[in-house]
Amino acid sequence: MNSPRINLLDLDAEAMKAYIVGLHEKPFRAKQLLNWVHQRGVGNIALMSDLAKGFRQTLSEQAEVCALPVLNEALATDGTRKWLLDVGGSNAVEMVFIPEDDRGTLCISSQAGCAVNCSFCATGYQGFSRNLTTGEMIGQLWFAEHHLRADPNAIKRIEEYPTPGYVHEGRVVSNVVFMGMGEPLLNYDNVLPALRLMLDDHAYGLSRRRVTLSTSGVVPMMDRLAQDCPVALAVSLHAPNDALRDQLVPLNKKYPLKELLAACERYLPYAPRDFITFEYCMLNEVNDQDAQARELVQLLKGIRCKINLIPFNPFPESGLTRSSPQRIFAFSNILQEAGMIATVRKTRGDDIAAACGQLAGDIIDRTKVRERTVDAALGEQIVQWLER
Ligand code: SAH
Ligand code: SF4
Repeated sequence: MNSPRINLLDLDAEAMKAYIVGLHEKPFRAKQLLNWVHQRGVGNIALMSDLAKGFRQTLSEQAEVCALPVLNEALATDGTRKWLLDVGGSNAVEMVFIPEDDRGTLCISSQAGCAVNCSFCATGYQGFSRNLTTGEMIGQLWFAEHHLRADPNAIKRIEEYPTPGYVHEGRVVSNVVFMGMGEPLLNYDNVLPALRLMLDDHAYGLSRRRVTLSTSGVVPMMDRLAQDCPVALAVSLHAPNDALRDQLVPLNKKYPLKELLAACERYLPYAPRDFITFEYCMLNEVNDQDAQARELVQLLKGIRCKINLIPFNPFPESGLTRSSPQRIFAFSNILQEAGMIATVRKTRGDDIAAACGQLAGDIIDRTKVRERTVDAALGEQIVQWLER
């Protein structure tokens, strides 16, 4: 019986070297392979012309480059793009590309569904389906980068939105954020090699500051990340005390605020920037009152951080609503007057539902996928804290 093919996207530099050496090839071939796959975006092994024919033959028999199939691509008028990716079992995940004047940010998913079950998150509401593999995660960057590079229309659109020239040194994706579906630190073993590939000079060569992992607060894994691959960290806080956070982010019962904030302090010396970002989803009359802003100030006193206020993206089952702009403004003012850095997340991709927490991969019936129209809905994404 044939054993399953090796997916070259699953292998970080070390694993690639081990694989190559196992085939009795010189170790430097691993770098060549990484280069072909990730830098040049070549998925067809036969086209890797500086590898000996015999080696290519062996590789073609055993290995492949396999990213998640794309079910749908939607383009918003502001240039934001959203792709729906098939993870099998009638499930899908989503990724979003957000072009800005000085960067292109890709928001990727780490799991199909999520087990943390935050009360304001559509991904959580759908439950946990499965972890994505390393290849399925890095494959999102692989696909987006090379698809956008190769598609003249995409480049044209990129140049139109919002200004030309943010394509850096021929690279389209300059920043990656793990803020799509799933809790990345609950899929640590697969996330780690994907992070390493993002940073690897023979693959994507992104700096640690340009890769942000967002977590609901899996404390032991935050410590592991600090040691293994300390990229920029965003922590989903959403509440100024344990009683409320227990309700909004059930993981808080396991890792309460005191432990979470201690883990943030431990992470800081390793962080590529000298602050942690705290995400705070603004929920009408739940966590958006003046007194709660003041409590938040007390809670975070002394921690080098930025607070990113995210206007809640509603979905029917949550029973929650978004704080008014005036409320968000008042809340953010209290933080700022106390000397904290608070930003409000920008609205992007309004017309394609590319929203944080709305990424539910909700296309269950695949026969309908291609007919799906891009409906108008609230969409919001990311990035304000990604200043250089
Ligand atoms: N699981 C990780 C990363 C994915 S969620 C985490 O929770 O951090 C990415 C961000 O989107 C998190 O800050 C999350 O709290 C936020 N989010 C989830 N649902 C949202 C919603 N409905 N509206 C606005 N932000 C939401
Ligand atoms: Fe999972 Fe993050 Fe959604 Fe919470 S907010 S359910 S951790 S994806």
